[in-house]
Amino acid sequence: MINVKPLSSKRQGVYISTYGCQMNENDTERMLSLLEMVNYEPVNSPDQASLIIINSCSVREKPVHKVHSEVGRYKELKKNNPDLLIGVGGCVAQQEKTRLLTDIPLLDFVFGTDAIDELPDIVEKLKSSHQKIAKVRFEHQKPYQIQTLVRNPGVSTFVNITKGCDNFCTFCVVPFTRGRERSRALAELVKDVQSLVQRGVKEVTLLGQNVNSYKSACGANFAQLLKTLSRETDIQRIRFTTSHPKDFNEELVQVMFEESEKVMEYIHLPVQSGNSKVLERMNRGYSREEYIQKVKMIFKYLPQAVLSTDIIVGFPGETEEQFQETLSLLDEVPYESLYAFKYSPRPFTKAARFSDQLPEDVKSERLQRLFDKHKSIAQQLSQKYVGKIVQVLVEKTSEGRGIGRSTQNKVVHFPLKGEQELVGKMVDVQVSEAFPQTLRGHLL
Ligand code: SF4
Repeated sequence: MINVKPLSSKRQGVYISTYGCQMNENDTERMLSLLEMVNYEPVNSPDQASLIIINSCSVREKPVHKVHSEVGRYKELKKNNPDLLIGVGGCVAQQEKTRLLTDIPLLDFVFGTDAIDELPDIVEKLKSSHQKIAKVRFEHQKPYQIQTLVRNPGVSTFVNITKGCDNFCTFCVVPFTRGRERSRALAELVKDVQSLVQRGVKEVTLLGQNVNSYKSACGANFAQLLKTLSRETDIQRIRFTTSHPKDFNEELVQVMFEESEKVMEYIHLPVQSGNSKVLERMNRGYSREEYIQKVKMIFKYLPQAVLSTDIIVGFPGETEEQFQETLSLLDEVPYESLYAFKYSPRPFTKAARFSDQLPEDVKSERLQRLFDKHKSIAQQLSQKYVGKIVQVLVEKTSEGRGIGRSTQNKVVHFPLKGEQELVGKMVDVQVSEAFPQTLRGHLL
């Protein structure tokens, strides 16, 4: 339980710029909830703020440079208002630690991914002591005990179930920026989800770097967590991301099948490469063949399952033949969505030290070929929805249209009939037009 005292009765503005993944988006929401408890309110522009936070990401290119240049843009604001507080959180803060404070004199504080809940305290200390603060230690031994903090949860919201990662894929900085993997207790998650239901939430997405390796202190694994949430809470839909193929086992697919009323049939299963040798150098823990076997197992239990994936092209040493195997994987696995990136070295990671880095032009050209190939496949796959009825959880209505998500995680648009209040309701929509990410249709 978080206990924070309001700083003063006058509300002050906080501006947070967020980079990166869903985990960071969720952390920003947590920061805003915590700061709201101490009389901050979010503002839309930095010049209205007395506290500016950059929630940084170190997954994409030049992350430190991005932090430097964003803080640089606040130079005038800080000059005009010396009380303005500027801080950096997220993965770059965790990675660079106190070096950021030395390198960027305008910064007042840095806080790592384990220090989010200390944010109100940090702000209070900054105001009273006027000393720079760095909170960047990992709390490896501390149990992962939080409650979901979300200001306006709406119909669908995210719930962290694990944090950190122990897998050390050779390209990935996450184990260094999010620390060792820890899981929340099953009983707490049941309470958390049920209390979100009482606030009107109909759908939760369980969030973690590798949700399948979830392990509660009571011994429950991810499959058991899904089953328990499905049976012991009134949540209507459950999604999860991200899955690691090596931990995606038959028990989990069976539970997805048994609980398919609530557990959605969409699975994001990052493959990263279609070549076994590259996968080995990435330390992914599975071969191409093993991955394909897992996909077959998924379709055996869940023939309607929808798959998406992540792919890295131009990993060090990747030959044209090995890349061709990634291309040919698209013929074997029907990915409806694809998130693909060029490999780029990350600090501390093993692959950054591999001597056989590929030239940028080779990586760019392969990425384009991958996208070109997937574009036509995705367009073709989407056509199977035309004429079908999909169940949609309505998330909003706007200008005479309802918008929601289908069980397959497609965004669905449909014209409203009259003045019905549909937000939060489950409706059936017959699809008339289909695109890879979006469906259009009419209400039944
Ligand atoms: S599983 Fe691999 S890619 Fe995913 S967060 Fe962990 S180390 Fe990174």
